[in-house]
Amino acid sequence: MHPHDQTIFALSSGRLPSAIAILRLSGAHAGPALQMLAGKMPASRMASRALLRDASGEPIDDAVVLWFPGPASATGEDVAELQVHGSRAVIATLFAVLSATPGLRPAEPGEFTRRAFENGKIDLTEAEGLDDLIHADTDRQRRQALRQLNGLLGDKARRWREQIIEASALIEAGIDFSDEGDVPAELMAPALSRVEQLLVEIEAVLSAEGRAERLRDGLTVVIAGPPNAGKSTLMNQLARREVAIVSPHAGTTRDLIEVQLDLDGYPVTVIDTAGIRETEDPVEQEGVRRARDRAGQADLVLWLTENDQAETERAGDVPVWLVRNKIDLGGAEPEITSGSPGGRSFAISAQSGTGMAALLDAMVGFARGFFGSTESSFITRERQRQSLKEAADALRRSLGAVGLGEELVAEELRIAALELGRLLGRVDVEDLLDVIFREFCIGK
Ligand code: GDP
Repeated sequence: MHPHDQTIFALSSGRLPSAIAILRLSGAHAGPALQMLAGKMPASRMASRALLRDASGEPIDDAVVLWFPGPASATGEDVAELQVHGSRAVIATLFAVLSATPGLRPAEPGEFTRRAFENGKIDLTEAEGLDDLIHADTDRQRRQALRQLNGLLGDKARRWREQIIEASALIEAGIDFSDEGDVPAELMAPALSRVEQLLVEIEAVLSAEGRAERLRDGLTVVIAGPPNAGKSTLMNQLARREVAIVSPHAGTTRDLIEVQLDLDGYPVTVIDTAGIRETEDPVEQEGVRRARDRAGQADLVLWLTENDQAETERAGDVPVWLVRNKIDLGGAEPEITSGSPGGRSFAISAQSGTGMAALLDAMVGFARGFFGSTESSFITRERQRQSLKEAADALRRSLGAVGLGEELVAEELRIAALELGRLLGRVDVEDLLDVIFREFCIGK
């Protein structure tokens, strides 16, 4: 049986227990299953109340049900949605009933979205936008994801692809018409000027300022410095602030390895290198491994010190900010002695919080400068950049091939169209699809 002949179901809402839980079904058996549970088919796309019953007529829950017949549904297939009370018992019973229904099986992660993609409801860039929206922690991540979900890049790429195909059709028509001789200039010239125009547009998107791709992962700030400088105290201070968005990861019961901050909508992960230590606990080991990997890719280092001897150990391209701690104990203002680019100095008391506002302000400024104007960026993933770059290279080669033979020009245009097709997920992307959709949640 082709997997799509099967109807999938999943809990699409969050952790149980919850006030309401949403179960979704997609596929040809969604209708009969809904009919069986609710006793009758509800009106399309209207919320209806229904007492759900199992096959023997035993009531399961008092629910609200929705029926979206395909193809005008999220997946393009028949979709049923059950809004039930979010208890473990209700969900367990419904899962048991649905699993026992022929043609139904639990969905894999991202399978609803994959069906939407395969049924042409969304392109691959929109699917990526959807995934990013679900995982967005900060406002800027949300806005960027929503724009991608609404076809920010997909619409452009579709238009470019159509124009390339038109241009190459013009040239190929010329090749067919001209026996031996060259393609007439009346056909060639408009096609080439269109290609030139497209190349300018794609290059503009490629060279746009800003690091929108990095907005998904965020900025990594590493706290380093000698023992007892107050690194874990600073981490605790950060975690206590309103800017902390995710429950901080604890390395030991006392020390945090990392804290996720929302700095003016920019996601920032702060990692305490001192918190990175060996542990037997497998869960902690995983946290330690991740923190170590990420600390190695710091975008900014905060070098914490308690005295004026502020020789930093780090160099390279990563800016190092000197943060003198424990100013509540008195002492002189620190001087920057490291030759780090973008070096700045701060004086704080991690214990009392003095100077923290200025430090956080500076970090917001750093994030703003680092990410640049992400609002004007179309590219949100390296994969997208790669395809666009390949397309632009092929267009450039097609223009370079003028005079060497029209077939060569047409061939490069075909490659450019193929790359844009790949960007949209239209051609040979099977392996890619598995990777992309695996990242999704179950029920999405
Ligand atoms: P780490 O080894 O760099 O992580 O340093 P800790 O955060 O464990 O701090 C070392 C000691 O310095 C602890 O006893 C803290 O309470 C103390 N400490 C940290 N920050 C401050 C501060 O701003 N003022 C004062 N007076 N003590 C601090």
